[in-house]
Amino acid sequence: KSGLTIDVNALVNGVLAKERTSLAKAITLIESNSSEHQSLSQTMLKQLLPHTGKSVRIGITGVPGAGKSTFIESFGTMLCDMGHRVAVLAVDPSSTMTGGSILGDKTRMEKLVRHPRAFVRPSPSGGTLGGVHRKTRESIAACEAAGYDVILVETVGVGQSEVIVRGMVDFFMLLVLTGAGDELQGMKKGIMELADAIIVNKADGGNIKPAQKTKSEYNQILHFLQPATKGWTTRAYTCSALHYTGIEEIWDIIDSFMENTKKTGIFMERRHSQAKEWLYSSIHDRLAQEFFQDERIKKALPSILEQVTKEERTVSSALEHLFDVYNKNS
Ligand code: GDP
Repeated sequence: KSGLTIDVNALVNGVLAKERTSLAKAITLIESNSSEHQSLSQTMLKQLLPHTGKSVRIGITGVPGAGKSTFIESFGTMLCDMGHRVAVLAVDPSSTMTGGSILGDKTRMEKLVRHPRAFVRPSPSGGTLGGVHRKTRESIAACEAAGYDVILVETVGVGQSEVIVRGMVDFFMLLVLTGAGDELQGMKKGIMELADAIIVNKADGGNIKPAQKTKSEYNQILHFLQPATKGWTTRAYTCSALHYTGIEEIWDIIDSFMENTKKTGIFMERRHSQAKEWLYSSIHDRLAQEFFQDERIKKALPSILEQVTKEERTVSSALEHLFDVYNKNS
């Protein structure tokens, strides 16, 4: 047990009063796997829901070292100074396997962490990627209810997590590095097709020229790809997260993206389909959870697993058997 005593009403009031400690507690509750916490969390979210939805949700991906946290630090600080309130969340595929987390290192985003208008949440450790999906969606909702109007969702570019994050944000950007001739060929076209902007970072010092060359190489490729968002042309840009150049322009791009997609209806269309996806993935999570927590399944599973690994039983027959057990009198 967590030893956490929870007064849901007080928590809701704290979140709506924009208290960071309450928001942090609310997200801890959302991330908890205990069924008692989950039901409290649902009660809380029900009350928060009318206060959600009014933010720009931005996904940021890129390989380790591309400069994601440096970029978020600069970009987030700029937005806070402009008067926005910025929340940073992370979906970290590695945390589910190693228990580590991309935002776990306290030295990252030092300035932003201390900014009174910012909220930086380390990525949740543990849990399944499916659970992470639901939890991140709910954490976004909690941040919005706490008055954050720009939500940045960071993820490491390794495959599955980009698709998950694309499915919960309005605008998705890919951070890349220069000298990408080989990298470009190796890069999966699929990831580029998720992006609303490709940002060539570290365009500073002697790297400015190569960065511009890389930018035009990306633009050439983008020309032949499906755009991630109907009616929007994905382009490549350069910036230096470290030296703070090209950062404002990226906000302008997002601004015109929002204006454009709201006018054409694509914005709401995407949010509606994302809400549907949210429900579907929650159903999947819930079914899996109920199945694996069923006492009869817990009892039957070890020997069935053993039979399957020893090839004494086919997977299909194991599946039939487990569902027979599960569906009996339930
Ligand atoms: P992440 O793994 O994608 O979060 O990358 P980091 O933000 O940790 O950056 C990796 C390294 O690149 C760090 O040493 C940064 O200081 C450096 N870096 C990030 N952005 C820039 C930039 O715009 N210019 C230069 N020269 N270095 C940068």
